[in-house]
Amino acid sequence: MEYKTGAEFAKRLDGEDPLAPYKGRFYIPERETLDMGGKTRSVKPIIYMDGNSLGLASKDVEEEMKAEFERWKNLTTRRSGIDKKAAEYQAKLVGAEADEVVVTGGASINIHALISTFYNPKGRRTKIIGDELNFSSDIYALAGQIRLKGRDPEKDLIVVKSRDGRTIAEEDIIAAMSDEVSVCHLPSVYFVSGQLLDIKRLTKAAHDHGIIIGYDCCHSVGVIPHRFHEWGVDYALWCNYKYMNGSTGAIAGLYVHRSHFGETPGLPTWWGNSPGNRFDFKAEWTPTGNAASWHLGSNLGIGFGVSPVYASSKMIVDAGLDRIREKSLKATDYLMFLIDELLSEKPYNYSVGNPREAERRGGHVAVEHEEARRISEALTARGVLPDFRPPTTIRLSPIPLYTTYQEVWEVVQHLKAVVDNKEYQRYDAKKKEAY
Ligand SMILES: *Cc1c(COP(=O)(O)O)cnc(C)c1O
Repeated sequence: MEYKTGAEFAKRLDGEDPLAPYKGRFYIPERETLDMGGKTRSVKPIIYMDGNSLGLASKDVEEEMKAEFERWKNLTTRRSGIDKKAAEYQAKLVGAEADEVVVTGGASINIHALISTFYNPKGRRTKIIGDELNFSSDIYALAGQIRLKGRDPEKDLIVVKSRDGRTIAEEDIIAAMSDEVSVCHLPSVYFVSGQLLDIKRLTKAAHDHGIIIGYDCCHSVGVIPHRFHEWGVDYALWCNYKYMNGSTGAIAGLYVHRSHFGETPGLPTWWGNSPGNRFDFKAEWTPTGNAASWHLGSNLGIGFGVSPVYASSKMIVDAGLDRIREKSLKATDYLMFLIDELLSEKPYNYSVGNPREAERRGGHVAVEHEEARRISEALTARGVLPDFRPPTTIRLSPIPLYTTYQEVWEVVQHLKAVVDNKEYQRYDAKKKEAY
């Protein structure tokens, strides 16, 4: 597509956007913010570019949470079947069969639950492949699970290195695969650079070596369609409060390929016991014959944390994940175009740090700038909410269901203005942490 730099063009894209009506179903907070000149303050809706960290609240979720309160009042929670329906919607979003997904736990707990199931060091096969750019919970969990099996992460954890500090080459992961490896655990999308791994290719390579492979999909579920079952992915997990907009207390999701249904989870619970035995409270645990075996207790599998996941998953399925990915790619493409055209030269010096190809990137643009932290603060004062990742990345994520092309265009004008007016220099240069 041929993009143009003028504001009219953004309006045209919005006019042609089939997802535009969804914005009205979200709550966009208002804040007192600086105007384009950087001087006058007024109260306006924010431009929210951080939906990849925490999705916005929707009316759909609000109504379902209220409905859950009614169900609690009337003691009908168990009868509602919301937990199964939520899992069915989530299965559609990841390309799984309905009984391969459960809504349970949290992302970090689910990493532990799945690795503790699939990492069974035996004979020569004692190692786990991870990588140095994955999210911290994943890195901690891999070492922790190796220690829990009485082994040493120094010997058994293979950490694939990045060549450029931002991305991991699939070839390097594949080169680490051997008959000494039990499990390979990777992200779908890297949370800083936005790189999307080739899941199909890596899964096939792992299986060629007899390795179990699983993915942390916190940065892709709800914005990128997956085909886990068809590709034979062994397991996956994700949170539901980022692109899923499932609320701050949203229960997470996990997927286990049906070929593993007979296995005993590393963290078996009474709620994951086969339903016929659930209330027997016998010493012996029996598999459910589907992914429900991996339930992490009733409290993390039904009720308040699950009802918003039901509503937000339904909304994304109804809107159409393919249409969501299409808009996400177009809006991020447009954002990269505007940065390249308007902000790549002196005195702006912004650059794009994520891979460019559509099949290699997720739902956010990683804008690189030496002054990323102070620029992020200046943007926030202007009512544009980005996400700063130390040391030099500003993550900007246009969310297909509630970000307009007009807003993408405006964000670029703000990125320009905070440099033109030297507004970022008002902030403390020494602070290092995320704010
Ligand atoms: C956000 C995120 C998590 C978050 O874990 P919680 O247990 O929900 O706090 C885990 N992994 C990745 C890759 C993430 O992006």
